Amino acid sequence: MIIGNWKMHKTSGEARQFIHSLIPFIQNISTSVFLAVPFTAISSCVEAAEGLKLIIGAQNMHDADEGAFTGEISASMLKEAGASFVILGHSERRQLFYETDAFINRKVRSALQSGLQPIVCIGETQEERALGKTQEVLTRQLKDSLFGLDLTRVVVAYEPIWAIGTGQAATPAIAQTVHAFIREPLPKKNIIISAGSVNPGNLTALLSEPDINGALVGGASLNVEDFAQLITLRNSL
Ligand code: PEP
Repeated sequence: MIIGNWKMHKTSGEARQFIHSLIPFIQNISTSVFLAVPFTAISSCVEAAEGLKLIIGAQNMHDADEGAFTGEISASMLKEAGASFVILGHSERRQLFYETDAFINRKVRSALQSGLQPIVCIGETQEERALGKTQEVLTRQLKDSLFGLDLTRVVVAYEPIWAIGTGQAATPAIAQTVHAFIREPLPKKNIIISAGSVNPGNLTALLSEPDINGALVGGASLNVEDFAQLITLRNSL
């Protein structure tokens, strides 16, 4: 599973243009690729991706279906716009917008109820890693954000915060060790993907680890050539 996370980049028109440029690279792929785009680009991307193995999703949502939540968006709104999945609990949401595991838990529940595939992000800071708290932090995030939910329906993304946008990806060995730890309490077949400065230079080594089932890609998904290269590499495995 390769998921591009565009964050707050690309207007609806730019997004459509990106997909048109990507077509030659995804015409013959065997498994679908995923793109999490800004809310305003969902509809145009879904339209542009018609007939392609390209699945469009969102990067966040509120847990309520409607209400007085200025600036928020609900699962049913995303569904109607054509989104198939949603990233929840990204570290930027946790750190910049103070989202808690309890809030993320409600969002995951709402996504599942609405038929949106949740991609739940967890990850430790540099400081927590240095203090030997990685397992403790991940266990808490997993437990609290997935409490009471059908675990078989959740994709988990391990995003070490120190690796996001820094160019310093986790080594395959570090990522594998953490993925194996995350997998323990989850159903055996769950998809666990890796994130944090994933690029065409490190994807293959990451994906060759037994517990790494894909990648969530930020920066390298913004550029057609890089994203196409990631797709081609994944497709050749
Ligand atoms: C992300 O934040 O989802 C991410 C993976 O970012 P980057 O690849 O740029 O580190």
